[in-house]
Amino acid sequence: MAQKLNTLIYIQHLLASQVSAGSLCIDATCGRGHDTAFLAQLVGEKGRVLAFDVQREAIESTRKLLSERHLLEQVQLYEDSHIHLAQYAKERSVSAIMFNLGYLPGGDHQLATKAETTIAAIKAGLTLLNDEGIMTLCIYHGGDSGFTERNDVLAFLREIDNQSYTVLVTEFYNRPNYPPLAAVITRN
Ligand code: SAH
Repeated sequence: MAQKLNTLIYIQHLLASQVSAGSLCIDATCGRGHDTAFLAQLVGEKGRVLAFDVQREAIESTRKLLSERHLLEQVQLYEDSHIHLAQYAKERSVSAIMFNLGYLPGGDHQLATKAETTIAAIKAGLTLLNDEGIMTLCIYHGGDSGFTERNDVLAFLREIDNQSYTVLVTEFYNRPNYPPLAAVITRN
């Protein structure tokens, strides 16, 4: 039976169709490391994943998960803000960049991503995407996440130059409890 569709699975399908072995990918918010592990599997041993988080707890949690799954070799972990993304990779060199916004599951909700830095990091990330590159955002809203970051990020996405990039936003339209939104950006 097919896996029940949710925001993350939808995003993973898109990434799997776009990312090939040996490529360079970025997890801009590694959290507990699930997205980093997913990307590390896609790029394989000859590829590279750069993973960022501002919290030591997230970096260590990600390191543990990768180590258990024998995926550490192709990943570099950085305890740094994603606003500095452009310092770590060359322009047009990256196949995929994932953002999973909000707070660290089981961690401090105060240390969640914030609209201003998220938008700065998206801008930096867009310059890094290669011609077939794809950026995905999992955008939380409602509950402890509130609506400020979602509203500001969506307003920013609508203004992205349509000559250079295509932006798609998807919502689970009839599901209750504010399921996260998926946004996907590709180069034209
Ligand atoms: N992808 C994770 C969940 C991410 S939670 C998973 O699958 O489990 C969001 C993460 O973003 C948190 O761990 C938080 O510490 C991190 N974060 C917040 N601000 C950040 C910033 N400016 N740069 C990088 N990471 C940040």
